[in-house]
Amino acid sequence: MKNLQNALLLKQLHQLKALGYNYTDAKPYTGKEQHELTLPDNLEALKKQAQNCHLCSLSKGRYHVVFGEGDAQAEVMFIGDAPLEIEENEGKPFLGRGGEMLTAMIEKVLKLSRPNVYITNLIKCRPITNKVVHESEYHTCKAYLFKEIALVNPKVIVTLGEKAYHYLTNDTTPLKEIRGTLLPKEGYTIVPTYHPNFLLKNPSLKKEVFLDLQRVKSIL
Ligand code: URA
Repeated sequence: MKNLQNALLLKQLHQLKALGYNYTDAKPYTGKEQHELTLPDNLEALKKQAQNCHLCSLSKGRYHVVFGEGDAQAEVMFIGDAPLEIEENEGKPFLGRGGEMLTAMIEKVLKLSRPNVYITNLIKCRPITNKVVHESEYHTCKAYLFKEIALVNPKVIVTLGEKAYHYLTNDTTPLKEIRGTLLPKEGYTIVPTYHPNFLLKNPSLKKEVFLDLQRVKSIL
């Protein structure tokens, strides 16, 4: 048992190193050291790294990592929350009815095709049914998301739902207060809107999402 625990610990240390953390002496922290993340500089290699990731407990239950997909130079990036079973089966984000809703938003309102945009999630592994994703799991997976953003370099990021907005920005303002605003960041503008699955349950909110997507168009 102890050997197994040590082996798992060693594996995690290797992965932290691959994410850019350095081994250091056990000196008191001075606050002067800067650890830069050194994840791969292309999406395919980043995807491979995510596929071998065991940095959090979600990796235990997964059999497919659901990495982002789409145009590696897309002007528009969509960020959702976490894959469900259907997405895990196919290894692709936003399938099923929520995926159809997102595709309609892209094609009918933005007048783009799905392969022309980039679609990803905060979390790349499906949480097992009824598991509440722990904050630390979101934060761990954010390293991959931020690298995807840096590599794709989109003009606009559409956050789908409150969690995507919250974990991207660290701002906990409720979505109904923040949506409708454009949030310029260094290099891109965030457009927060409702999650397609929420829209399926609340179709009267489609008007608001339509307006949000018009805002996206005005930036492109
Ligand atoms: N499927 C995804 O890929 N992301 C979500 O947020 C919901 C369903």
